[in-house]
Amino acid sequence: MHANPKAVEETGAKLIDGNAIGAAMRAELAGEITALQQRGVTPGLAVVLVGDNPASQVYVRMKGKACEEAGLYHETIKLPKDTTEADLMSLLERLNVNHKIHGILVQLPLPKQIDTHRALHRIDPRKDVDGFHPENVGKVAVGDPTGFRPATPYGVQQLLIRTGVETKGAHAVVVGRSNVVGRPMAALLLQDGPGGNATVTVCHSRTRGIEQYTRQADILIVAIGKPEFVTGDMVKPGAVVIDVGVNRVDDPTKKQGYRLVGDVRFEEAKHVASAITPVPGGVGPMTITMLLYNTVQAARQWVRP
Ligand code: NAP
Repeated sequence: MHANPKAVEETGAKLIDGNAIGAAMRAELAGEITALQQRGVTPGLAVVLVGDNPASQVYVRMKGKACEEAGLYHETIKLPKDTTEADLMSLLERLNVNHKIHGILVQLPLPKQIDTHRALHRIDPRKDVDGFHPENVGKVAVGDPTGFRPATPYGVQQLLIRTGVETKGAHAVVVGRSNVVGRPMAALLLQDGPGGNATVTVCHSRTRGIEQYTRQADILIVAIGKPEFVTGDMVKPGAVVIDVGVNRVDDPTKKQGYRLVGDVRFEEAKHVASAITPVPGGVGPMTITMLLYNTVQAARQWVRP
């Protein structure tokens, strides 16, 4: 997508609708779920929540609801916040051998007494639908399609593909280098295939003069967790902007006292970009959709040819 910047200035950017794209992808997946069920396998997801982090509770509820709507089997296992690492490990061992469960997800963050790496490494890599086990991280890094792609960057890649954004040869700038979003995002954009073959720059909190990089981006993907950090003048005219950030900012005019904003100042960026994701309604719905895709991918491994 290479829009004429002037036209963009006059008309505003095209809105990339994650709700619509996510719904279309879930409808496509429904046929495969039915086919698996006819062969005796109902894809099953276990979501493990340790503690009572309010945001995590919301995410876990949304994941359970999405499984139900898609016809997947799911279990949400809630453990108290003082759960020991040993207790979590033994639960994961049980889930690893539970035949009804094809995907296991441990909701992050975990309480301090539990080592996150040790917990994530204990999940059977064949059930690691979040794609955080080193075996899957490695597979994604080398472009092995049997690896599970972390849901959020996988969803961003699908948004780009399904919006017709040409990644091949484009300069993609990823702001943020977390293991959940930034790093796997860069790996996916580098792969040789659809939604890949980009030239990738990764920026982070120690990057000097970050706006020099963001202004060069044909595709700008921002995942830092800083409300409206990227202003309109940091965006190249005609760029495609994907805003992964979800931040609560105080807003007394709202019933709940806050509103959600992204990492990009949407009202400015929409006049400069050729296409942009809103927050909410952009990347968020894609993350849940790709979790369902990964659970179905996990279940497929257990179907006899
Ligand atoms: P994270 O683990 O906190 O990582 C943030 C990254 O941003 C780090 O790499 C950090 O750099 C970088 N960063 C922080 N401040 C920066 C700055 N001023 N300039 C440049 N880079 C900066 O966060 P995350 O898990 O990746 O999540 C990022 C955002 O995406 C959050 O708002 C989160 O809520 C949202 N998110 C949304 C979804 C969804 O489904 N929509 C899913 C996941 C995350 P250093 O490494 O140098 O510290």
